Amino acid sequence: MATKVLGFIELIWTCDSCGTKNPGPIKSCTACGAPQPLNVQFEKVDTRSFDFIKDQALIRMAQIGADKHCPYCGTRNLADTATCVKCGSDITVGSQTREASRIIENPQPKIIPATRQPAKLPTGVLVFIVIAVLALCVFGGIYFSKLNRTEQITGTVSAINWHRTVEVLAYRQVETSDWEDQIPSGVQHYDCDLRHRYDSQVEVPNSREVCGEPYTVDTGTGIGRVQQDCVYQVYENYCSYQTMTWTLLDTLAADGSDLQAYWPQAQLSSSEKYGATHERYTIVFTANGSSYQMTTSDYDLYQRAYPGSAWLLDINSFGDIRSASPQP
Ligand SMILES: [Zn+2]
Ligand SMILES: [Zn+2]
Repeated sequence: MATKVLGFIELIWTCDSCGTKNPGPIKSCTACGAPQPLNVQFEKVDTRSFDFIKDQALIRMAQIGADKHCPYCGTRNLADTATCVKCGSDITVGSQTREASRIIENPQPKIIPATRQPAKLPTGVLVFIVIAVLALCVFGGIYFSKLNRTEQITGTVSAINWHRTVEVLAYRQVETSDWEDQIPSGVQHYDCDLRHRYDSQVEVPNSREVCGEPYTVDTGTGIGRVQQDCVYQVYENYCSYQTMTWTLLDTLAADGSDLQAYWPQAQLSSSEKYGATHERYTIVFTANGSSYQMTTSDYDLYQRAYPGSAWLLDINSFGDIRSASPQP
């Protein structure tokens, strides 16, 4: 994100000793003379507007860098000062540099803290939630143990059924769209319009600069730098065109209640072909007067399901078949 500097504004600070509001660049309180404390927070004079500084000397001061505090008398000095303006001490070593680059809050409508605090739940509701979670854990545990606990029984095949489908694809002209540089070579005619494709840090052809709201950054000098973050939205040609591709024309289906399943077929033209296939086999067993149903895509297993043949079944507590194998 590119940052644009719009200008500099004077900030203010409040004296710790007497409460007087002083201009940011003034280093000692105008009322009581107290030095500006190291941890003072600069604020904006007017939270709504930006009254840009025209004095070039002040702007240069803000650009030198954050002020530093004299280690002997605490007075604030400009970043490039060698001896303290107040006590004359050498401050090239040991001085503390002011905090800088803090973003001074924008004058957004302030959120009242009371509405931000999460509402406390009544104890009754909390107890109910705890009980509900516990109950869910218990029932979930029972459910999964029932799902996995199996019982072995012998069943006989009472009914069988198969179902197979085959997709038929056709090579046809379809309308599609893509970025101009993604269009396959050979496509002659297409219609395009400019669309936002990506954001760039630098200006490129067909781009539009978009900037966020201005905000003020503390330079550590009592002067705020007003800036905004910008990007270039790059527009490129997005085009619609005709292309040839395999598309779904039909889905053929066949089914039966015998052991010899086959794939459905059709007379295909030269511009058609078969696509994805799907198979589903159902075996119904009778055991102890109840009936159990199993569905599989395993044709080899299905072909062993002779009506009346005996199978060993693993049944869970819900009556579902977990596994089945024909008895020799
Ligand atoms: Zn004061
Ligand atoms: Zn000093």
